[in-house]
Amino acid sequence: MAAKLLGWDDTIVALATPPGIGAIGVIRISGSRSFEIINQLFPSKDLLQQASHTLHVGYLKEGPKVLDEVVVSLFKGPRSYTGEDVIEISCHGSPYVQQQVIQACVHLGARLAKPGEFTQRAFLQGKLDLTQAEAVADLIASNTEASRKAALHNIRGGFSEVLKQLRDQLLSFSALIELELDFSQEDVEFADRTRFYALIREAREAVERLLHSFKLGNVIKNGVQVAIVGKPNAGKSTLLNALLNENRAIVSDIAGTTRDTIEEILNIDGILFRLVDTAGIREHTSDIIESIGVERSLAKMKQADVVIYLFDVNSTTIPELEAVKHDLDRQQIKYLLVGNKSDLANDLIRNSFDARATILFIAAKENEHVEVLKERLVDMVLQGKFQTEDTVVTNARHYHALQEVLKSLQDIHAGLDNNIPGDLLALDIRRCLHYLGEITGEITTEDQLDYIFSKFCIGK
Ligand code: GDP
Repeated sequence: MAAKLLGWDDTIVALATPPGIGAIGVIRISGSRSFEIINQLFPSKDLLQQASHTLHVGYLKEGPKVLDEVVVSLFKGPRSYTGEDVIEISCHGSPYVQQQVIQACVHLGARLAKPGEFTQRAFLQGKLDLTQAEAVADLIASNTEASRKAALHNIRGGFSEVLKQLRDQLLSFSALIELELDFSQEDVEFADRTRFYALIREAREAVERLLHSFKLGNVIKNGVQVAIVGKPNAGKSTLLNALLNENRAIVSDIAGTTRDTIEEILNIDGILFRLVDTAGIREHTSDIIESIGVERSLAKMKQADVVIYLFDVNSTTIPELEAVKHDLDRQQIKYLLVGNKSDLANDLIRNSFDARATILFIAAKENEHVEVLKERLVDMVLQGKFQTEDTVVTNARHYHALQEVLKSLQDIHAGLDNNIPGDLLALDIRRCLHYLGEITGEITTEDQLDYIFSKFCIGK
């Protein structure tokens, strides 16, 4: 497939480090002509004669003009990121210098790389499968411990391994069916139907587990929307500040999300919590959450994955809280009931609440039990489920393909139930294998690949 792709023979060049001024900038070249190109720019040594995986210091020159003093790293294919001959030039971090070096490579016949083209080549050379290539983009975009872990697990082939097992199961199933078809005249049944049944059930369970993990995968990748709601003076902005003091997350932008509301982002134990409509919390005058029944606050809560309902324990009645709880339950919203200003409350007040509902008591202003609130938030999301070894589906493309895999498995099951002929079963199996292949990239079109890799940054 590789050789058919347009531009495959080209040698490509791009800046691999972020544009702008830095201590150094790394320029990457990949392709069959990369050694020849660097050799013409690096007069002090014959780089064609040097061993792979070595570093060389010297001046880069285009004709008589000295471009920069650089360090050149040599990687001969296939022992390189792309699997092709790769050169990395570490030059000084001036955008002007970097442009000059890139231009010099272009003058010698290299072409500017498209976004993700280095990783695309690694995929086409069989260095990575598609799930691993996509995990490279996820790792670059990861901004928390959990997203880093999930991406790294997949780069190492965690997800591919699960898919491979599935594929092997299906292949052994289909081999038996095909064998049966070859002898169809003789009306023999080689394939033991109960074994078939068990095999498909195992595959189904594995796919269902993967599909189920997408919810968590989404959390890991995009964070959890949290709304802090409650009546004016409950202490919402005090709580917001207490939470932000230690955990404000350093994030640039998160792919796939639009910021139509003002939000603050917290990083608690490696999970991003996106606090929605924090502007509304801060602006006291426009605080419209007079009561929880208000249309807008409901809409806001529905938008959230988790709602923190904050109330002042000293000025809230039990019937009031019961009504709130009822509303939240009815809307099927995940929530935490948090009683604030417990520093002012006596035991009588606390006990009266505690008997009715599980309430977390805090004193936001005193920073009391805010830690416990954070733990509860994390528990609610992870439910202790996420381990480094777990395979979590974080990619919507994989999720949709897995849904198709599940559908085909269900069809196979139904087919077995109805005793349909082997050739029809074989069709369903082929369909199932097709969708599995789409995930790992064994079955893809050029358009699909271009689309996937276009979401990468240039130079990767
Ligand atoms: P909001 O309207 O819900 O955002 O409430 P604020 O955060 O503005 O808090 C209202 C008032 O309650 C302020 O005077 C806060 O200092 C006070 N407050 C907030 N949390 C606590 C607390 O835990 N204990 C006490 N004693 N006062 C608090």
